Amino acid sequence: MTNSSLAAPDATLVERLATANRILYNEGVVDGFGHVSVRHDRSAGHFLLARNMAPALVTPADILTFDLDGTPIDAGDRRVYLERFIHGEIYRVRPDVVAVVHSHSPNVIPFAVTKTPLRPVYHMSGFLGEGTAHFEIRDVAGNSDLLIRNSALGRALATALGVRSAVLMRGHGSTVVGTSLEQVVYRAIYAEMNARLQTQATALGAVTYLNAEEAALAAATNDTQLARVWELWQRKVER
Ligand SMILES: [Zn+2]
Repeated sequence: MTNSSLAAPDATLVERLATANRILYNEGVVDGFGHVSVRHDRSAGHFLLARNMAPALVTPADILTFDLDGTPIDAGDRRVYLERFIHGEIYRVRPDVVAVVHSHSPNVIPFAVTKTPLRPVYHMSGFLGEGTAHFEIRDVAGNSDLLIRNSALGRALATALGVRSAVLMRGHGSTVVGTSLEQVVYRAIYAEMNARLQTQATALGAVTYLNAEEAALAAATNDTQLARVWELWQRKVER
């Protein structure tokens, strides 16, 4: 499909993406930085992402369409995020992924710098499965500003993510993927929560994590409850 023949995305999807931006700010996952994207509903080779701005301020009018190379097709003179390559390169290699959150959520940072995987300490974070992946940008880029600012770095990050639900980025943050906007927002919020709880639990003693089967069963159940928490989080940002 050429860009000129690309159909407009579903208006409710654009609306939900704007809401997702505000929820992630309100729940402490993103601050002035970080972003969330969703795959275009009419073209698997495109995704939707806000223009370069603070997530808390995003409205539907700020949502742009990009191809998987990270090239915006309708940005005009609006600035785009430096790290848009995170999104396109993950969508390229993970056909199951429909939404991506990249953040610098604070409780996750200590795990990334110590190469300690996040593992599920409770049922809410069953999506963490057997643990997060780890990405060391220095192995790919040498000394850099740590940002995923081109396709090659995006590809390396996507490779590090592999089949997992989240990848920790040393000295930077994390990227979480999901099969829907509602699911990826849930995962980003509970990854941050799990990080805090895992740090607390580790200080107390040896931790018994959910095993792989418990994690999978819990994740499947949680996926049936996404509408319930989304409705709550949405209400909080509409007030
Ligand atoms: Zn970043």
